[in-house]
Amino acid sequence: MEKLLFGISGHPIGDGSTKFTYKSAITYLKNIGLDAMELPFVRSVNVTEKNKDEILQSKIENNFYLSAHGSYFINLNADEDEKQEKSLERIINGAEALSKVQGRSLIFHPGFYLKDSKEETFNTIKENLMKLPYFGVDYRLETTGKGTQFGSLEENVQICKEVKTCKLCIDFSHVHARNNGSIKGYDDFIGMLEYVKNELGEEAITDLHVHLSGINYSVKGEKNHLPFQESDFKYEDCMRAFKDFGVKGCIICESPLLEKDALLIKEIYEKS
Ligand SMILES: [Zn+2]
Repeated sequence: MEKLLFGISGHPIGDGSTKFTYKSAITYLKNIGLDAMELPFVRSVNVTEKNKDEILQSKIENNFYLSAHGSYFINLNADEDEKQEKSLERIINGAEALSKVQGRSLIFHPGFYLKDSKEETFNTIKENLMKLPYFGVDYRLETTGKGTQFGSLEENVQICKEVKTCKLCIDFSHVHARNNGSIKGYDDFIGMLEYVKNELGEEAITDLHVHLSGINYSVKGEKNHLPFQESDFKYEDCMRAFKDFGVKGCIICESPLLEKDALLIKEIYEKS
């Protein structure tokens, strides 16, 4: 991608009383200086025959970037084969709907270890991901916030090396929470970016999908998202590292303050 886009997850907050549709949300976000939105398909796929044309039109008119967050009910390492099949179906349905509005990336958490070893889980998830058809939408594996969920940065990078249709979604806040506050500052961000570049090449850095938020966590990992200014997540160092390292792609802000925090980090990025 040519530059780094900033956007939010789901509908904006606005003045608190406006009811948004995807169409009006895209126009609103563009007007305040944002360029991307991640459609939450987390409970159901909400791009339908009814709204797809107006979303696509608004996306094109505003030169806007769309991604979607896949179902929360995905576990490609479920004990029952039927549940694994259902999970694949949910991913495919999400990618199909997103492709109708020219969305680029479907983000999801691939699964849980349950009673399996990390290696067994890796292999089962990898085999399932290899079955996914490609519709022009990249499957983006998100780094997860809890140790019980598959999706450390290393695991996802390894999958991306082996499965052509998969790319990264790095949720740096999740990585921080998963490792009980491991990201202390600028050098840690640069270290992770260097690791990704060494393993997956320059392309992974110039088309990166990122989730960011302030975050609350314990030794067990992620608890809940927080505004940037109310958490220990080093968002200023993060923006500086992205700028210095030449990261391009899309940042989706998942803070409870949504567009307000997205604009906050965008401003810091631009001044860096
Ligand atoms: Zn997620």
